[in-house]
Amino acid sequence: MNQYIELENRFGAHNYKPLPLVLSRAKGCHVWDTDGNRYLDMMSAYSAVSHGHAHPRILKVVQKQAAQLSVVSRAFYSDNLGAFLQKACEVTGMERALPMNSGAEAVETSLKAARKWAYQVKGVAPDKAEIISCHGNFHGRTLAVLTMSTEEQYRADYGPFLPGFRNIEFGDADALRSAIRPNTAAFIVEPIQGEGGIIIPPDGYLAECAEICRQQNILLIFDEIQTGLGRTGQLLACDHDDVRPDGLILGKALGGGLYPISLFLSRSEIMDCFKPGDHGSTFGGNALAAAIGLEALTVIEEEELVENSRRMGEHFINGLRGINSSLISDIRGKGLFIGVEIDPAKATARSVCEQLMKHGVLSKETHETVVRFAPPLIISKEDIDQALDAIETTLSELTG
Ligand SMILES: *Cc1c(COP(=O)(O)O)cnc(C)c1O
Repeated sequence: MNQYIELENRFGAHNYKPLPLVLSRAKGCHVWDTDGNRYLDMMSAYSAVSHGHAHPRILKVVQKQAAQLSVVSRAFYSDNLGAFLQKACEVTGMERALPMNSGAEAVETSLKAARKWAYQVKGVAPDKAEIISCHGNFHGRTLAVLTMSTEEQYRADYGPFLPGFRNIEFGDADALRSAIRPNTAAFIVEPIQGEGGIIIPPDGYLAECAEICRQQNILLIFDEIQTGLGRTGQLLACDHDDVRPDGLILGKALGGGLYPISLFLSRSEIMDCFKPGDHGSTFGGNALAAAIGLEALTVIEEEELVENSRRMGEHFINGLRGINSSLISDIRGKGLFIGVEIDPAKATARSVCEQLMKHGVLSKETHETVVRFAPPLIISKEDIDQALDAIETTLSELTG
């Protein structure tokens, strides 16, 4: 495996620090390394592989559509983009959708939409619009998005950042209330902070934010790139609070594990602020993406992945709570979006992930202390039980 690692290290940028494992094949919930060892994938590419690897229905659509029509750019119509956008609007209860590729691009789109709306509809003075985000957020890696980040490493030596942003505490509706100014355009928030460490806000927080935003005439934007499409045991994480945002961002699982696809969805009043030429993307919404996105959404419904996420998530979290280990200081999660907090005095999350890998289970730490478990939503009870055994063994080995 070393030759592949060396080659990547020699010719690649060193902006990641992968676990020392070289993968060459994947199917369903499993991946294989170049030596033929099999691993259970318990992080599914940060939820991009919620359908499992190489889902047969989505794979079939890729093969058929790729041969028929893929990239023509939005200079022309294609015969399947409308159906994809319609489906996305219908399942999320939104009115319009704008397709992009990566999650960060869809977040950028939401910020641009919020600013346009502030000037054209709300009547904020030119160049004065403000956007509120939360401490500990993760919305991607582009410069505008990093302006919102409070993570020192993500921001270091990338300044200067954009004006017109302010941060508040996550999970505190009063903080939102007091941060709003007459020129505030929008509040953008993850319903559960993923990269931040699977941080779940108090019950009713999202509903209270929605009420505040409605009263104060500011847009509420949910970044559901990681929490959306069944990850938390509801189609959208905001369904737990029974609220609808003004703007919604999807990505990751929307690509069915096979293609980068993201969407910014909103009410018509907001989306109509974009006029031809105002915004775009060469690959965004291409025919291959549209076919895959439509199938990804259809498979989630027809294979009842949301239901499985809820049931398997409960089984998994109960199993974790049954593990008696002094290394665990907290277990939290919803559906199959679960964080295990490791006591930093006893071990690092990274060391847990490295040891778990030796027992055939792949996971990824977020920050120094949280091991994140977010397996494909198709996962079976047997696979979860195998993961639980490996986790228990790992923790007892690390306890020494
Ligand atoms: C992953 C993620 C993003 C960024 O998506 P990319 O496709 O990596 O650009 C944005 N927001 C959230 C909540 C994410 O989890």
